[in-house]
Amino acid sequence: MQRKMKGTYDILPSESSRWQAVERAIRRVSKIYNYKEIRTPIFEQSELFHRSVGEDTDIVSKETYDFKDRGDRDNTLRPEGTAGVVRSVIENKLYAADIPVQKLYYMGPMFRYERPQKGRYRQFHQFGAEAFGSNSPLLDAEMISYAVSVLKSLKLKEVTVKINSLGDSQSKEDYKIALLNYLEPNVKHLCKDCQTRYKTNPLRILDCKVDKGSLVLKEAPKPLDYLTKESQEHFDNLVKYLDQMDIAYTIDKALVRGLDYYTHTVFEVDANVSSLGAQKTLCGGGRYNNLVNDLDGPDIPAVGFAFGIERLLLALESIDYKGDAEYIHLFMMILGDDQKEDAAKMIQRCRLGGLYVDTDFLDRSMKSKFNQAESHNARFVAIYGANEKEANTINIKDQESGIQETIETDQLYTYIMTKLMEPSSKCETCEDDDCDDCS
Ligand code: AMP
Repeated sequence: MQRKMKGTYDILPSESSRWQAVERAIRRVSKIYNYKEIRTPIFEQSELFHRSVGEDTDIVSKETYDFKDRGDRDNTLRPEGTAGVVRSVIENKLYAADIPVQKLYYMGPMFRYERPQKGRYRQFHQFGAEAFGSNSPLLDAEMISYAVSVLKSLKLKEVTVKINSLGDSQSKEDYKIALLNYLEPNVKHLCKDCQTRYKTNPLRILDCKVDKGSLVLKEAPKPLDYLTKESQEHFDNLVKYLDQMDIAYTIDKALVRGLDYYTHTVFEVDANVSSLGAQKTLCGGGRYNNLVNDLDGPDIPAVGFAFGIERLLLALESIDYKGDAEYIHLFMMILGDDQKEDAAKMIQRCRLGGLYVDTDFLDRSMKSKFNQAESHNARFVAIYGANEKEANTINIKDQESGIQETIETDQLYTYIMTKLMEPSSKCETCEDDDCDDCS
């Protein structure tokens, strides 16, 4: 038997409705914030990720899925979404469009060769947003608000927003010097990777999974203390806007994020729920004002975030989020071969009218047909046998009210539609019949 690859999994039909509900919520909130969807390829030239994510990040140095194609070109399965979106914005000159600030979002699979564990996979899914063309901290605040709104729309309340600023290039440079000076006598106490990072990219040391929490790093200088005047202003304004928008946050001076390209604002959203285990971060993002230019595009500022959708779903387990209920409108029971032609016609009519319809294809017993109708959560069950054919009628039962009626076959569609329009006696909150308790 063939088995799935390590770190991958199937989204089975029993799970897919939860995925769809989350995707729908994401699309709805994206519409509220006026972000438009962009879909980029799953693989890109390897060089794109080396230049954007950074040579000595864990992602590029240890985690990418690289392959040569038959034309001897170097390809990489995308480990994240930003690089491809930036490439597309430049290649398609979206920055020159009528809309000066391009606000985009994406959803799809990403690939990282990581050690699989709860909430960490080799193929996982991200929802991300990117906005190009403005350096306004109002846009940073909008991004954070957008990310929080997605969680609120899914009724996930226990979330913490952590923010920090790395500042502009000058601030980053000043900070780098301070960090190098501080770390010089302590390099030997750092892990092997960080000893390399000390020479290649010292900022990354602060984000090291091994050294994080060590005393050396705890006492290291913090980027927020090295901001230029403009960068400090940017951060102060962001904080003011978040306050006005009533978005709770904490300033985490040690937050740097794992990717090279960030400038100014960086942020993370954690969910404080036990179902997530150690992987509490649902969303990470920040401003990347130099990346478009670094990838040979014009000098355009940008800001974005990315959510891990698997982690989002794991977090939702803690609040027993079920997604939308699965159901069909009609389950058609056909009794006998001679009735199949008429039944096919009725099913087709109902489906053309937009009803969700299913039937039994295995000529099973009545009991088994009823079981099927129940497992599909059918609102109506119709029975069509020889007697009904003779009388040109069909028997229909409303599973919600228990009412059973015999109607003319050509009335089937209109009958169901009319019933569906009637207000339900079920309480929308607890789904009990005739409930007086819920408001
Ligand atoms: P990053 O692109 O590393 O900033 O990650 C953004 C978000 O994607 C994280 O906060 C996680 O929710 C999610 N994520 C990153 N790597 C993985 C992975 N290997 N498996 C599942 N989710 C992931």
